[in-house]
Formats: sequence, structure tokens, C-alpha cells
Amino acid sequence: AAKSAGKNRVQFFDPAMLQLDDAVEAEAELRAAVDGGELVLAYQPVVAAGDGRCTAVEALVRWAHPFRGLLGPDQFLALAEETGAIVPLGEFVVRRACADAARWAQEGHPVAVHVNASPTQLAHPRFVELVRESLAAADLDPGQLVVEVTETTVLDSPVVAATLDALVALGVVIALDDFGTGYSALTTLRSLPIGIVKIDRSFVAGVLTQAADQAVVEAIVQMAHRLGLETVAEGVESVEQQDVLERVGIGSLQGYLYLPPAPAEAFSAWLADNRR
Ligand code: C2E
Ligand code: CA
Ligand code: CA
Ligand code: CA
Repeated sequence: AAKSAGKNRVQFFDPAMLQLDDAVEAEAELRAAVDGGELVLAYQPVVAAGDGRCTAVEALVRWAHPFRGLLGPDQFLALAEETGAIVPLGEFVVRRACADAARWAQEGHPVAVHVNASPTQLAHPRFVELVRESLAAADLDPGQLVVEVTETTVLDSPVVAATLDALVALGVVIALDDFGTGYSALTTLRSLPIGIVKIDRSFVAGVLTQAADQAVVEAIVQMAHRLGLETVAEGVESVEQQDVLERVGIGSLQGYLYLPPAPAEAFSAWLADNRR
């Protein structure tokens, strides 16, 4: 008994234990944030190649923390995923994004809205119902909602594949995010109901300096077109990158060059200007 008490005492002062305590606290905080309205969406436009007209917008979640400031997804998504808080978080994102997109359409600026969905969300039995309800509540055309998934998410999961089929049956569009970074890109495109391919920004970053990156982007665009898929280049930061991407036939572009992710009102103002 003395030995196990000693062991417990050691564990009590173990720094790893403190980290665990922090995680438990962070989880509680994150759940409270979801319930208490501390989550906000940042919006980043997707513009058409050639005329630069905004056709869509991606919703990116932020946590307006009461004393830690505005936190990006890299600072809390992994925790949300581990603890299951990703489900209520995702509900907020889908509902808010649909409502905002419906409002922009009413203001005369219809744009499709993209939301990101994690593996846990896509495997959740109520995800399709959430999407159906959110579209109905906002009175948004299902074709105006795009659900972004990554290759790693959809690999080897019949449950996720069924979710994607059900979403497509509703009229929702599926985009394959971070394309080119996975291992089975071509198989994924063939076997799932993908409508849009988003070329990962690591390729866009090298498009001016790395011949291989330009070749990969060109090959993805050609293949996508032959498969009847739309293409979006992510992370476009310069006019020079834009020029190369347009030359190889990219459909749409997204990146800091047009607008970094912005609060709904700032995006709204940008959109009114873009659409004039
Ligand atoms: P992502 O879906 O690949 O989103 C693009 C990320 O690139 C965003 O980071 C965006 O701010 C950033 N970005 C946009 N344009 C540029 C550019 O020109 N240059 C560079 N260097 N970066 C650019 P963010 O907002 O920090 O989001 C990170 C990731 O978190 C997202 O990557 C997405 O996977 C995930 N995420 C964001 N919001 C949600 C959400 O609501 N739900 C889920 N499940 N995941 C989300
Ligand atoms: Ca995305
Ligand atoms: Ca991406
Ligand atoms: Ca990414």
C-alpha cells in the first residue's frame, strides 16, 4: 500500500499530468465557447479565373477567446476532434455559414459557401440531417453549399462514403481539399462523388520556382477537366502565381492576393465591391 501511495504521489507531480489537467480544462472551455457564442467565422472569397468575380466563399472557424485573443483552428481543432467538441462546433459552422450565405443572396450577391468537415463530423450519424435542417432553416439552395473533405478523411471509410452520397443526393457539392498531398489521389477521385478539386497551396507556393510543382498543377487541372470536375487553387499570394495558374487552365482561385479570411461584415463589404 505504501508503495502505491508513493507512486500516486509521484504521478501527482508529473508534468505530463499537469498537461492532462490543462486538456480537461481546455475541453470544458471549448464546450462553453461553443455554447456561449465565442466561436466566429472568418470568410475568404473564391474568385473565377479571368474576371476575378467572386463565385464562392470559404468559412473558416475562429475562437474569440475572452482573454487569449482570437485563436485559429490550429490552436483548438485537434483538441475539439479528440474530445468530441468538434460535433457541436461543426453544427455552429454549418448553421452560421448557411445563414450568412442566404443573407448575401438576399442582398443580391449569391455565392456558394464552403464549409470544412472533419472525419468525426462526417462519421456522425446526424451530419446529413444537420445539413438538411440548416439549408431549410436558411432557405438556401443545396447547390450553394459545398462541403470540403480531405483525402485522409475519406480513405477507407464506408460510413463517410455513405455520408457523401447522401449529401450529393440532397444537391450539396463535395470538394476534395488539400488535393495532391494524399497518397491515393486518383482512386479517391474515381470512387467518390467529388465535384470540386482544391489544389493544395504547397503546389501553388512552388509554381513559379519549381518546374515539378507547375507540372503537377497542370496535370491535376487537365485530369480534373477530363473528369468534369471544377478546380480551385488555394493559397494564391501573387499576381505572378495567378498568371501561371490561369495559363494552365485553373477554374478558380483563393488566397491572400484577393482577401485574407475576414469577419463576415468585412467580407460582405468586399463582396459588394467585387460584384459592382
Ligand atoms: P484549409 O481548409 O486548407 O484552409 C485554408 C487555410 O489556408 C486557412 O487557414 C487560411 O487562412 C489559409 N490561407 C488562405 N489563403 C492563404 C494564402 O494565400 N497563403 C497562406 N499561407 N495561407 C492562406 P486557417 O483558417 O488557419 O485554417 C486551417 C485549417 O483548419 C483549414 O485548412 C481547415 O482544414 C481547418 N478548419 C478551418 N475551419 C474549420 C471548420 O470550421 N471545421 C473544420 N473541421 N476544420 C476547419
Ligand atoms: Ca478548406
Ligand atoms: Ca485546403
Ligand atoms: Ca489544409
